[in-house]
Amino acid sequence: MSSLLRSAPQVDDRDELRRRFVEAARRAQIVTIVNRAKTEAELGELVTAELCEAFEAEIAFVFACSDDGRPAVVGTYGLRPDEAASVLDSGFLDPAARAPQREEGRDLLFLGAQAVIRAPFAGNRACGVVGVARLYDKSFDEAEAALLEAVAASIEHALERLRLAEERDRLYRETHELAQAARVIGSIADGVLLVDDAGLVQLWNPAAEAITGLPRDAVVGRPVAEAIPGWPAHDGSVVGASPASARGQATTMPIDVAGRELWLSVEGVDFAEGTVYAFRDLTEERRLEQQKSDFIATVSHELRTPLAAVHGAAKTLQRDDVILGGAVSRQLLTLISEQSERLAEMVGDILLASRVDSPELEIATENVDAAEVAAEVIAAIRAHAGEGLTVELVAPPALPPVAADRDKLRQVLTNLVANAVKYSPAGGRIEIETAAHAGRLSIAVCDEGLGIAASEQELIFEKFYRADANMTRGVSGSGLGLYITRALVQRMGGTISVESELGEGSTFVVTLPLAAADSDSTPPEPQ
Ligand code: ADP
Repeated sequence: MSSLLRSAPQVDDRDELRRRFVEAARRAQIVTIVNRAKTEAELGELVTAELCEAFEAEIAFVFACSDDGRPAVVGTYGLRPDEAASVLDSGFLDPAARAPQREEGRDLLFLGAQAVIRAPFAGNRACGVVGVARLYDKSFDEAEAALLEAVAASIEHALERLRLAEERDRLYRETHELAQAARVIGSIADGVLLVDDAGLVQLWNPAAEAITGLPRDAVVGRPVAEAIPGWPAHDGSVVGASPASARGQATTMPIDVAGRELWLSVEGVDFAEGTVYAFRDLTEERRLEQQKSDFIATVSHELRTPLAAVHGAAKTLQRDDVILGGAVSRQLLTLISEQSERLAEMVGDILLASRVDSPELEIATENVDAAEVAAEVIAAIRAHAGEGLTVELVAPPALPPVAADRDKLRQVLTNLVANAVKYSPAGGRIEIETAAHAGRLSIAVCDEGLGIAASEQELIFEKFYRADANMTRGVSGSGLGLYITRALVQRMGGTISVESELGEGSTFVVTLPLAAADSDSTPPEPQ
């Protein structure tokens, strides 16, 4: 208490006391205004107006360095924007200044001012200057300099506070946007891959995992060329478009994942830190496309040949100017009959292939003696098999019956044995071997014919697929037989597989479930 009293100023003059009181009140008011401002613009506007009032001046200004370090106007009073800009340009914001500076003269700031006072401030985020100018001749005193210095300090604090809040809001917005972007990337159906400048994968979204089957952990952080087999060979062709330009051109490319070929439609966009790729799985579309073109190729090739033969034969028979002998006429009629049968078979196959998967095609379950059906098929085929071909059945006695559809099983075995004959142009032995094991019956159809390349052994079961080597050998066919065969076998609860080597022959193995031991044999339904 006593020390307070001792340090209190000796004020004997009442006017001086009032002046100091008014000054303190003004300072408090300005500081309140400064602290109340919600934005820098509001701060500049309010504080400059208040300064002119407090200092009985016409002009006030606050300049501060913006985030990028360049001086900018925070607010002015009594200055047009162009005047404020020219004051700013005249180097008024002196980074070296530490204390308030006062000036007197005739045309200060080129504005006709006669007294100017300015006080600098310099914080971590905000440095600048606050100034006041009078157009009339009255210089600023020490007390006004002290007041302006205090105002400068509170402006500095307020700017720091506003800029911190702005940064916090920006960070919050960015984090929010990032989280939102991550949610979007996580939920879109397209695969998204982000590769940085060093060629390392930085992002691999759940759709990318689902499409390729490659888990995130196996891809992220690794060189893209290593993590995604097949990518490097096409890297150059995956065009990265600049973000400013229109969407990039999608590139279709195959990648190899665990022995599976996947066709992807990939679109890349370059950005500052790398390239972001979006991709879709086109494998199914490509397969359908392939089937479509295979269908057109088959139909145009396989149907046109017999049609042309039928047409040619009929035209010849119609001619009045040529006398045909009975033998030639019979030959032509046989040709017409055989070729139209081939056409009917092919159309039948096309129709069956289109409905073999649908429930409309009924499949009966009856107890069937597979060896008996095989013997019937062999007997029918032998009639057509050329010379040099033997077709044999190898079946153990008392084979248990299978649970199957007798007619469909006959069709399956007919297709397999007919293929064995068709693709054994040099003859050889064809064998149907049956055996029961572990609740199933296996029926193997073996030939010593052309064989099938390993790369084509899965594809031959596709609709319209015909192995290259056999296509070029001129063996006719629709490419539908094995597709239908597999679908029928699967619908009877069975499996089909092939083992073959090019030039060494093929073995197709069908397995079917054995009929339950106590179930009665039911006669086949007439069709
Ligand atoms: P298609 O015989 O009418 O061409 P399939 O669907 O029956 O149609 O057979 C598809 C392809 O599989 C054939 O084109 C042929 O290349 C190959 N293939 C089928 N069976 C055999 C076989 N026993 N030996 C060699 N190749 C075969």
